[in-house]
Amino acid sequence: MALIVHKYGGTSMGSTERIRNVARRVAKWARAGHRMVVVPSAMSGETNRLLGLAKELQPAKVDARVLRELDTIASTGEQVSVGLLALALQAEGVDAISYTGWQVPVRTDSAYTKARITSIDDARVRADLDAGRVVIITGFQGVDDAGHLTTLGRGGSDTSAVAVAAALKADECLIYTDVDGVYTTDPRIVPEARRLHTVSFEEMLEMASLGSKVLQIRSVEFAGKYRVPLRVLSSFTDWDIPIDEEARSGTLITFEEDEKMEQAVVSGIAFNRDEAKVTVLGVPDKPGIAYQILGAVADANIDVDMIIQNVSHDGKTDFSFTVHRNDHARVMDLLKNKVVPALGAREVIGDSRICKVSIVGIGMKSHVGVAAKMFRTLSEEGINIQMISTSEIKTSVVIDEKYMELAVRALHRAFELDQEAAAA
Ligand code: ASP
Ligand code: MG
Repeated sequence: MALIVHKYGGTSMGSTERIRNVARRVAKWARAGHRMVVVPSAMSGETNRLLGLAKELQPAKVDARVLRELDTIASTGEQVSVGLLALALQAEGVDAISYTGWQVPVRTDSAYTKARITSIDDARVRADLDAGRVVIITGFQGVDDAGHLTTLGRGGSDTSAVAVAAALKADECLIYTDVDGVYTTDPRIVPEARRLHTVSFEEMLEMASLGSKVLQIRSVEFAGKYRVPLRVLSSFTDWDIPIDEEARSGTLITFEEDEKMEQAVVSGIAFNRDEAKVTVLGVPDKPGIAYQILGAVADANIDVDMIIQNVSHDGKTDFSFTVHRNDHARVMDLLKNKVVPALGAREVIGDSRICKVSIVGIGMKSHVGVAAKMFRTLSEEGINIQMISTSEIKTSVVIDEKYMELAVRALHRAFELDQEAAAA
């Protein structure tokens, strides 16, 4: 019999009635003979509620001491969830026991509010599984070496589940959520968007980093590193559907290209409005420019995504890059007050009304002209491209945010993503 990890998101755990349904679903798998570990999120809205309370009382200056307490507060949401789910399973006649992160323990570094898992001790969990129990472990949290509680960043329960699955060498990790899988793009923008039966790990990684919110990106990285078989599926099907039907539903994340059954060149379109553009104008074109600008930005701990340097004329050039919108004001300040004067550049301008639209597909490795087709499609819609970046399996463009939906729809149509790709 298989060792299976189930992860349930906040919506699936949103009320006692829903928790009862989760318990029934888990009980069904346990009764079929599987060794079951369950990792739930806090009930939906709970983490926001807890952090909202914290905000009312916290000091203006947020230092490590404050962050430590935020983790102590936020981690309680998951503690309530595991206890409630254990009770619901016991009520179903299933022997179940819950653990918080520190009880397992799930060890992390000490980066409060965005800690990384360093190791998971599986001894206690294995002993319970051997005794025939369903083991329920909190998502989102862990403990550092000094015994302080930590959390893994918003959406971190996905990563908890995958890390637990890796530590236990589980046969599969099923991520139950409020959508029924990974789509070619967001169906709220393109109603013809289609669920993918399989998606490669590399594509999933790109999609997660480019703005698809289905899985926390660290969970995908973890799955790749430890080769954890991962499936995203809906928790809103009837709990009593046959297990073999359930086990084939949703989207499977695969590791071998040849295992990928759909051979579309482009598998999905991602987009986000999280970035802002910054342009330094009239920069003297000489060695060390990129270093002076981006070095200062890195020293301020600000992540840079896309970068463009134009050809120079009259010994001057323009230099543009994008950062997260939350960092926009900070980066503008830094450039205006420090970098521009030091460089002798003319001025800096910012634009936060941009969006990034990306096409993703491992088929791009072996096909030419894919990016060109993207550019043609956008030009036919009269959409101006401000920046471009590419990797082996994606092409991203920055455009005016008012064209985002138009661009996504046009690209979805151009790459025929509404149609099932031919089987390999
Ligand atoms: N409860 C946490 C959050 O809301 C973790 C999670 O749900 O994955 O971000
Ligand atoms: Mg989530």
